[in-house]
Amino acid sequence: MPVKNLYICDHCEKTQENEPKGMHFISIRVQESSPRYSSSFSKEMHKQLWCRKCLVEVGIVDWKQPDATPPPTPPTLEDMIIEIVENTVANRE
Ligand SMILES: [Zn+2]
Repeated sequence: MPVKNLYICDHCEKTQENEPKGMHFISIRVQESSPRYSSSFSKEMHKQLWCRKCLVEVGIVDWKQPDATPPPTPPTLEDMIIEIVENTVANRE
């Protein structure tokens, strides 16, 4: 008798049959950020099954740096001439 295993992402509910590849268990535990209360962990570890796409989307794995902002474009010759003329006129006034 054949057995089917169904893997369901707890985040986006994507399903896949029989193949667990690409699905990952994540565990979350809550801890107070104040050192005064550092012993106040949540009692339970919350475990979920997530697909790779969700892990990447929330930045848990394969987090990539955002694209760097392109350098500013250098002023054109026309821009430089206009600036020189404006500065000259402003200095004469
Ligand atoms: Zn997912």
